[in-house]
Amino acid sequence: MKVKLLPGGGANNPQEQYLTSFLINDELAVDAGALPLALDRSSQLSIHHIFITHAHLDHMAGLPLMLDNIFTDINQTILVYAIEETVQALHKHIFNNIIWPDFTSFKNSHNVNLQLQIITPNSLVKIGGLEIIAVPVNHTVPTVGLIVKDKETAVVISGDTGITDELWAMAKNLKQLKAAFIECSYPNRLSDLAGKYGHLSPELLFAEYQKIGKNIQAFAYHLKPAYLEEIVEDLLALKHQQIVIAEPGNNYEID
Ligand SMILES: [Zn+2]
Ligand SMILES: [Zn+2]
Repeated sequence: MKVKLLPGGGANNPQEQYLTSFLINDELAVDAGALPLALDRSSQLSIHHIFITHAHLDHMAGLPLMLDNIFTDINQTILVYAIEETVQALHKHIFNNIIWPDFTSFKNSHNVNLQLQIITPNSLVKIGGLEIIAVPVNHTVPTVGLIVKDKETAVVISGDTGITDELWAMAKNLKQLKAAFIECSYPNRLSDLAGKYGHLSPELLFAEYQKIGKNIQAFAYHLKPAYLEEIVEDLLALKHQQIVIAEPGNNYEID
C-alpha cells in the first residue's frame, strides 16, 4: 500500500502543514485539506473517493476548490465518505449555495456530480481493493480515525485526536498492521493544551503508540506550523527508532 501525506501549503517550508490530506495508492484521498494545491489537475481528476475524518477547515478546505476545478470534466461520481455529523456540516456550512455551490444538487454534462455518503462508525467500507473502517476518536468535534487494509497490509491514520482508546484497541488486534500515522499538533510544553483541544504532543503520541503493543512504524503528522521546530525537537528526543516524522510528498510504500 502506498501512503502519501500531501504537502500542506507551507510556501516557505515544505514541512509546514497548514492543510491535511493523504493519498492512498494514488487514488483514495483521506481528508481534502490540500488536494487541489498539492496535485495537478489530471491527478485531481483521478480521485473519485474521498474520506473526510471531520469537519474542521484544515481537513476539507481543498474539497470545494477541487470540485470547482474539475466538475465540468468528471465522468464518474465523486463520492465523499464521512460520519453523519460531518456530512451535515459540509451541507450546511460549505455546499450551501452561499459559501460555495451545492455540487450535490446538480449534475454536469456527463450526468455525474458530488455525493456525500454517510458512513457508520466501526463498519467496513470497500473501495477497490481496500477496506476502510472509521473508528471514533477524541477531538473537539465528532471525528474518526481510519484503519485502511488491503490483503497483506493495514495502516492506521489517527485523524485529529487526543488521548483515545478504541482506535488503538482495534489496531492492536490487526495481524497485518504495518504502520500508524499519528497526529502530533503541539510540543510537550503545551501537552495540557493539546489534551484540552483533542490533540497530541510527542510525549502523548508516545503513550498512544504504546497502546498498539507492536513494534510498527509510526509517522507523526499534523505538526502545527507555529510549533514545528519545537515539536520536531521533542519527537527526536524520544529517540525511538520506529517513530519518525512523516515527510510531506513522500510516497511511503508500506508492506
Ligand atoms: Zn480538527
Ligand atoms: Zn486538523
